Order: sequence, then structure tokens, then C-alpha cells
Amino acid sequence: MAARSRHLAAARRDGHAHAARGGCPGPPQEGRRHMKIGFIGLGNMGGPMAANLAKAGHDVTGFDTAEVSIDGIAMAEDAAHAAEGADVVITMLPNGGILHSVAEAIVPAMKKGAVLLDCSTVDVASARAVAEMANDAGLLSLDAPVSGGIGGAEGGTLTFMVGGDEKAFEIAKPLFDIMGQKAVHCGPSGNGQAAKICNNMILGATMIVTCEAFALADKLGLDRQAMFDVVSTSSGYSWSMNAYCPAPGIGPKSPADNDYVPGFAAELMLKDLRLAQQAAQDADADTPLGQAATDLYAQFVEEEGGKGRDFSAMLPRFEKRGRS
Ligand code: NAD
Repeated sequence: MAARSRHLAAARRDGHAHAARGGCPGPPQEGRRHMKIGFIGLGNMGGPMAANLAKAGHDVTGFDTAEVSIDGIAMAEDAAHAAEGADVVITMLPNGGILHSVAEAIVPAMKKGAVLLDCSTVDVASARAVAEMANDAGLLSLDAPVSGGIGGAEGGTLTFMVGGDEKAFEIAKPLFDIMGQKAVHCGPSGNGQAAKICNNMILGATMIVTCEAFALADKLGLDRQAMFDVVSTSSGYSWSMNAYCPAPGIGPKSPADNDYVPGFAAELMLKDLRLAQQAAQDADADTPLGQAATDLYAQFVEEEGGKGRDFSAMLPRFEKRGRS
């Protein structure tokens, strides 16, 4: 991978989001345990998440294959050194293959009883395999993918969907409270990833049909604002329509109002839809709309210039098309 230099000065720029929930940058509050944390994968998401933990007073040692520097975080020479002696090691990596190879390097270096907390979005099978590797070595483990994107990582307002045992969840809970606003324990290992891909399969399919409906309404001469006013208060309502409307100038402010600059990029939606289809294949689940959404986002991202655009940019795509 090409070396990349990134310096993150202050992920939570003013500290207000956190202070408002009773936390504050600086030493951990009385009664809160100061933790030694290893953080591996300090990219767009991991960088600000790690910075928020350091600002809350935890002792964070990081590692990334790219050149990264973040205020308040000591950088280790490799992943194993970042993990050594840590109470919790957090990983925020691109995919299951990389997670697996990082886990092979860090699990032998971690102290017994420590928690391996993976926040990446990966396939369910990799999440369960890594949990088994960790548990066999006397570690606790959690899969805790997030929703909320880069803004949520910076603002400490992520939602965590968590799989793994209760004891590990209790240990990690104060860290979830710093990095996010909500953590839902979804059951045993892999269930965090299962929740994430089921949610995003619904989101992808819902966004597509919302965009289709706007494009159809245009052709029927139905005003977009009237369409929004009806659907957002009728049985067709959804997060895609009500909170993240793909039509510019309609509903609350969304990436559509900023020329579809992401937000949530179409290629990330494609990644999650593919993970959902892979899981459906493994579990023998029939997911025809999930498959159709995957195929459409693949076409959009790989053949139609959708890469780097928000996933709601499906609307201008449909606007230009006819039936054939
Ligand atoms: P990113 O590419 O910005 O960051 C990944 C980081 O991992 C990079 O800095 C990379 O150098 C590092 N890395 C790669 N291989 C490594 C290795 N072997 N050892 C150490 N570091 C390594 O990606 P991101 O946007 O931060 O996303 C991270 C994860 O979060 C992904 O699984 C993604 O699907 C998920 N996610 C992202 C978003 C988003 O909006 N970006 C939202 C929700 C979930």
C-alpha cells in the first residue's frame, strides 16, 4: 500500500458532543477505569475514534501500515507491539482477510483476559473465526461494527452493533460510551456483523426504491415536494425518505443538497450489500431484493461513475433512464 501521511490534531474539534453526555476530554472521571488500549487501523474511522479515546484520558497506542500521526497517541512499530499489555485492542480495518492476518499477529501478544474488539465491517464468517482464535488463546472478543460514518466517528456519536459475550461487552461499554451514543448487544460472536448487514441490506433496497419512486413521480407530473409530504407521513415512509431524502431541496438537509458528496459512499454500500449476499449464501437464505440491490449498486459503482458519490445519487441515475 502506498505510504500515506495523515495527521489528526483533534477529532472531536470542540469536545462539546461528549461533554453534553456527561463525559469530557481529559483524565477519566472518578470511578472510571483508565485503560491501556491498542488501536490498529487508524484510517478515516479509526483515526478519530482513537483520538476520542485518548482525549478522554485513556492510554492509546496505535498502529497503521500507512504513516499516521495523531495527537495523544503513541505509535508502535507493528501491530503486536501496539497490542502488548493492552486491556482492550481495537481494530478498524478494511476487510475480513486483513482482520484475520492482523488477529494472527496480535492474539499471541495480548495478555490473558484482554478484549479483542473489532469495529470493522467484515463478513460474519471472519468475525466468528477471529473470535474463536481469540477465545482459544484465553482472550475475550467482540465484533462491533458501527453505523454513523466519519461524522459519527469524529463527533463520538457512532452506534455499535455488538456480538460476543456479556463480560466482554461490560468491559468495553465505557469505550463505546466515548466513541458513540449507543451500543446494542445483539448476542454471541458474529451477531454484530449480522445486524449491520441486515440493516444495510434494508437501507440499500429502500434507498433504491425511494429513488425509483421519485423518478417515476417526475414522469407522472407529480411534484417532488408533494410526493415527500405524502410519503413521509404515509405507509411508504422510511429513513431514506424522511431523514436522508435523495431529492435535492426536499426534506431535511442531506447529501443530495451538496451535489451527492458522501455521506455514505455508494462503494461502501456495495461492500455491505455484498457481505449480506455472502452471508445469505452461507446461511441458505433467500434474499432476492438484497441481490437486486447488490447488482444495481455494482453497476452504478463499477460501470456508471457512482464511485465516490453518495449512495443516494441513485436518483440522478434513475432520472436519466427509461425502461429499456
Ligand atoms: P480506511 O481505509 O480509511 O482505514 C483503514 C485503515 O486500515 C487504513 O488507514 C489502512 O492503512 C489500515 N490498514 C490496512 N491494513 C492494515 C494492516 N494490516 N495493519 C494495520 N493497519 C492496516 O477505512 P475506513 O473508512 O476507516 O473504514 C474502516 C472500516 O469501517 C471498514 O471495515 C469500513 O467498512 C467500516 N465503516 C466505514 C464507514 C465510513 O463511512 N468510512 C462507515 C461504517 C463502517
